[in-house]
Amino acid sequence: MVGNIPLVIAVNAGAPAGVQFEGVQYQADRYAIGGAVASTNDTIGGVAEGKLYQTERYGSFNYEIPVTNGSYTVKLHMAEIYQEEAGQRLFNVDIENSTIFTELDLYSRAGHDGAFSHVASEIAVNDGKLTIKLNGVVSNATIAGFAVYSANGAIDNTVPERDCKGYIGLTFDDGPTSNTRAFVNRLRDYGLSPVTFFVNGRNIDDPSVIREMMSVGEIQNHGYSHSRMTNLTKSQVLDELRKTNEAIRNAGAPVPTLFRPPYGARNNTVTQAASELNLYTLTWDADSKDWNGASSAQIVRAANALQDGQNILMHENQRNTINANTLSQIAENIKAKGLCLGLINPATGRVTAP
Ligand code: ZN
Repeated sequence: MVGNIPLVIAVNAGAPAGVQFEGVQYQADRYAIGGAVASTNDTIGGVAEGKLYQTERYGSFNYEIPVTNGSYTVKLHMAEIYQEEAGQRLFNVDIENSTIFTELDLYSRAGHDGAFSHVASEIAVNDGKLTIKLNGVVSNATIAGFAVYSANGAIDNTVPERDCKGYIGLTFDDGPTSNTRAFVNRLRDYGLSPVTFFVNGRNIDDPSVIREMMSVGEIQNHGYSHSRMTNLTKSQVLDELRKTNEAIRNAGAPVPTLFRPPYGARNNTVTQAASELNLYTLTWDADSKDWNGASSAQIVRAANALQDGQNILMHENQRNTINANTLSQIAENIKAKGLCLGLINPATGRVTAP
């Protein structure tokens, strides 16, 4: 209850498991469209029990909760678990047609790792779904959880929750490039997230580009200088991998868990060096051949052949891959087959639920 309005549902954003908070059961993350997830082990200030706030969904994304039409109250929970000063993250929050926050700066409201909550009341839903819209203005939007209350509305159980017939992986190598920002926006526009970026350490010069990429996927290791690793000594391979891990970390992304050898070139020396750095050496199940001049239609066809658990090789520096036509068709085909995008499990190399 909030006041005397009964609970409809509560969600622990960015978390694979539920959590109790202030006597309310928050379920594992669901109903999100887009965004990526992250977490912290830091203690959250301002609340007795901070677990709800230690996980987040971030990026520019929506929650769409299937509900009957009625009047709703939404309690939002957020924490700045990443930025360490004011002005580094500003984002907008809308619920249905109401502007809840414009350029919200969590750091200014509650500091780093501080719990922030806000109740939005009397939200009218007329379209069968309660839409919470989070859009980054400076860096990404973030949310830790939300609880929905209503006196006259409920979850609409006649709407089947989107269930995935399988998970496939889109991988984009050789970035970041000068086109990365536009490319990331396109991925977001077509709901193509999460994806996996295999980056070259030497290409990383702007951490904000990496942060953009993280809003639609994960950043993994493709070597520093795109050398054919089978021509290198073990210590040279280690150097390539370490320097790239370091560049990725310095840009604010998590430590990579996957390594894709340039050209797929690998031998025992290469895979041993990778495993010493806890990197799983991954190739691909399907090759888009974009590096060899494949047309947009050929790339779309190659992606359309992917089956549950498989990933496809594509490149960020190939015009036929990153163009709107290719990406929108890939998105449509995935939806039509009831598949979802997933991430690659570093224990098995298979694509699984994100
Ligand atoms: Zn490459």
